[in-house]
Amino acid sequence: MSKEFNLTIKDYESGFFPTWCPGCGNFSQWRAIRQALVELEIPKEEVVLVSGIGCSSHMPNFLDVYGLQTVHGRGIPAATGIRLANPELTVLVYAGDGDIYGIGGNHFLHACRRNVDIITIVSNNFVYGLTTGQASATTPVGTYTRTTPRGSIENPLNPLTIAISAGATFVARGFSGDLKHLAQVLKEAIDHRGFAYVDVFSPCITFNKNQTFDYFRERVYKLDETEHDKEDYFGALDLSNQRFVKDKLPIGIFYQIEHKTTYEERDFSLNQGIIPAHAPLDLTEEQIETITEEFY
Ligand code: SF4
Repeated sequence: MSKEFNLTIKDYESGFFPTWCPGCGNFSQWRAIRQALVELEIPKEEVVLVSGIGCSSHMPNFLDVYGLQTVHGRGIPAATGIRLANPELTVLVYAGDGDIYGIGGNHFLHACRRNVDIITIVSNNFVYGLTTGQASATTPVGTYTRTTPRGSIENPLNPLTIAISAGATFVARGFSGDLKHLAQVLKEAIDHRGFAYVDVFSPCITFNKNQTFDYFRERVYKLDETEHDKEDYFGALDLSNQRFVKDKLPIGIFYQIEHKTTYEERDFSLNQGIIPAHAPLDLTEEQIETITEEFY
């Protein structure tokens, strides 16, 4: 963290104005990411934003931080490599549902179980926006799209349930229509030690006439206004299933635990002989402190 931090949200703009359709949900994420970085006082030169392919994946062009646009679905492995090479960096992945849950699904799954200390933000609009609205991995059953003219017959993925059960240590959901809440969720995700994942309901106003801003406004409610305990694993799993069984959609932090070592900490400490290879994943505070002191 910089001692004399005086940057503003505007300072994190690249100077290239986004090419997204006016009103696209990606705009508020563009703003929310910058706001979170400013509030956490993370200097631009310590941030890398990695994307894949899709409308949302143009994001590195619009932020004045280090950026890398990879091939489709490969943002997570590239970000993992960057983070392992330099653990001083804040490494974010930003891409769409087609990218992360479709072609990049395997990388997503394994990043969760490895607990690599990166942040993955998924702009979830339930279609492939860039290629004009085909069905994606999250498109609900019955939805009419370019590739499902008689309605989708496939069950959609439930990415939050997958992330929680695969071992992610921070699992949350935001909504592009609530910028203040989204920025706060992203701030907590960036501040988290370990794999942080945020799914964002982000309407594609051009090719999805079903999951619109109004659709979500009528359904979302905030978890921090409920009794939900974010350390309750089974409670989080139950909540994540509400996407499919109820007409209410929770947003906020579903699940967060801080006591697990990250992949890079374990790799470092194994090499340094601080912990043996068969050490339990859940370490004591004291053990974690020893590792983090030596690692960072
Ligand atoms: S096509 Fe959809 S996702 Fe792509 S920029 Fe336009 S509104 Fe956004």
